[in-house]
Amino acid sequence: MKFNTKTIHGGQTHDPAYGAVMPPIYQTSTYAQTTPGGHKGFEYSRTHNPTRHALENSFASIENGKHGLAFGSGLAAIDAVIKLLKPGDEVISTNDLYGGTYRLFTKIYQDFGIKFHFVGMESHSKINSLINKNTKLLWAETPTNPMLNIVDIKALSKIAKINNILFAVDNTFATPYIQTPLDLGADIVMHSATKYLGGHSDVVMGALIVNNSSLAEKLYFIQNASGAIPGPQDSFLVLRGIKTLHIRMQRHCENAKMIAEFLNEHPKVEKVYWPGLKNHKNHSIAKSQMNDFGGMISFTSKNNDYDETIRILERLKIFTLAESLGGVESLSGHPASMTHASIPKLEREKSGVVDSLIRLSVGIEDISDLIQDLKQALE
Ligand SMILES: *Cc1c(COP(=O)(O)O)cnc(C)c1O
Repeated sequence: MKFNTKTIHGGQTHDPAYGAVMPPIYQTSTYAQTTPGGHKGFEYSRTHNPTRHALENSFASIENGKHGLAFGSGLAAIDAVIKLLKPGDEVISTNDLYGGTYRLFTKIYQDFGIKFHFVGMESHSKINSLINKNTKLLWAETPTNPMLNIVDIKALSKIAKINNILFAVDNTFATPYIQTPLDLGADIVMHSATKYLGGHSDVVMGALIVNNSSLAEKLYFIQNASGAIPGPQDSFLVLRGIKTLHIRMQRHCENAKMIAEFLNEHPKVEKVYWPGLKNHKNHSIAKSQMNDFGGMISFTSKNNDYDETIRILERLKIFTLAESLGGVESLSGHPASMTHASIPKLEREKSGVVDSLIRLSVGIEDISDLIQDLKQALE
């Protein structure tokens, strides 16, 4: 089955009870048993729920994985992965990590005795120099947030395999429309399904997808034992969102290309970060592992300071100033004061998150309206 069919049918069966074409919302916590243990595969909704189960099958299908797991948020999904580790274990991750992931690692799990290293993951020698017998996990994002750096998934998976380390990729920005990290050697794919998979900014959800069955068993155990699961309503919404993922992504990418080119030529713009631009420092890796370049763009403006940047954001009318990304509507953001405020200024500026950086989540509106909006805000 091709991707554009999997989004609609992948892992799905019509509901066995009445043949409902859409998976019904099984709004129930428990299931009748005819005799103790005599049930139809469902006992209690923290462990299993048919609507969530349909969604988990869909997650697995679109990411070319065997097992999918849904969580109450992206961070709950990441939390489940870190719970595979023990005190003394070490994790190597990227230095422009999603702010919430950085906070989870450094403000919670560091206190449990897990050690985190943050490096530019394009440098394989830096990664190799940090690996020791305690290293248990490589955690990558590509493209990264908000600098849109690209890391070579295949190369990292080789490093992980040689050293017997788990390799996880946060695939939130790219989505499986653009890249499927399991095919490139990753062990775990993670999503904030809040973003493109849900696609309509109306639900918070997380996902993990794996191939290895014993790893899946461990994660299912954590999912049930810790209990950070999504409810059936939200599971239904994300399933519905995934059915249009391919056509939404196509338009997100088309619009982002036009906007990146527009900004790239604009006299008030200093630098544009979008992996589809030839002047992007990782363009060749991007081209080799991505089918398209996504809907996220970051840029800085010339002679720009904090206040002027805020004024540009306030002038935007169609781009709504808001946290999050990946919905049908265009959003703008100021990483330094919003998504990345929890990262110390010095740390964040080292990775490029300066005060004048603006991040756009390009929606699927008419491109001429979006460009007009940016034009008036910049001028
Ligand atoms: C939003 C986001 C997360 C966290 O997901 P939530 O659903 O907000 O918990 C993790 N990684 C990336 C890249 C994100 O954009």
